[in-house]
Amino acid sequence: MSQHYRKVQTIIEPKPVMEGAGVRLKRSLGGEELNYLDPFLLFDHFGSPHAEDYQAGFPMHPHRGIETVTYMLAGEVEHRDTLGNEGTIAAGDVQWMTAGGGILHEEMPQVRPEGNAGFQLWVNLPAKLKMTQPRYQDISSNNIPEVTLEGGANVRVIAGNIEGTDGAVNDIAANPTYLDVSVPSHGSFVQTIPQDHTAFAYVFEGKGTIVHAEGQDWVTSPRLIVLDEGDAVKIVTAEEPIRFLLVSAKPLGEPIARYGPFVMNTQEEIQEALTDLRKGTFIWTEEKALS
Ligand code: MN
Repeated sequence: MSQHYRKVQTIIEPKPVMEGAGVRLKRSLGGEELNYLDPFLLFDHFGSPHAEDYQAGFPMHPHRGIETVTYMLAGEVEHRDTLGNEGTIAAGDVQWMTAGGGILHEEMPQVRPEGNAGFQLWVNLPAKLKMTQPRYQDISSNNIPEVTLEGGANVRVIAGNIEGTDGAVNDIAANPTYLDVSVPSHGSFVQTIPQDHTAFAYVFEGKGTIVHAEGQDWVTSPRLIVLDEGDAVKIVTAEEPIRFLLVSAKPLGEPIARYGPFVMNTQEEIQEALTDLRKGTFIWTEEKALS
């Protein structure tokens, strides 16, 4: 079986932004350069050894119509929400939150000697699930499967399937793949990606080469690489190792209306979210879902 390796479509340099109550982070999706990579709405990389860059955190705020995916590399984030969930997301853990019809939550990085580092991705929900019941999948690091592949790559399988190993997160509408891939020097990594999926790699350590039929493209960190069409990706290393996230999912092809933490299909639905928030009827309830 011959594979059609994806080449680089666009390289995005993450831009510094201030979010929440004053958290410094680097944004590569959801900003001016690329506002929407269907179904991905936002991709932020946070990472600092300095408490003043992260300790203000993200006090209680709403979400509707999307999923937020937090993956921690270092430090800890305390979270709690209006469903009564609370806990700690520690290094190596992932929290996949389906905000659905409405949730309020806070995400507060804790001051730690190792600082605070990780990623947050926002995945859009299809129209039929925008008002669905909110759901959390909290996965601790030791429950994330790891596989070592031919070519030397070590892969943490957060979502998706690699050579028969299922990711820790399941039943997500966009059928996503979310991998944390480390390729040693003089190594290689090949992964199948469904032809109809949007895919990107976020390189956060080292450098490597994306190999395809027309040649090869150098990629370095930190950069978000939007991959062109194809049914697989191949990344090889030379002297330096590389570490990147590989994320893909099925695009929705629906209109979007976005306003801060709400992403709906129409402006009317955004207005409704704001009205609900003002009237204190924002949070998803079973009664509301039935009405
Ligand atoms: Mn949030």
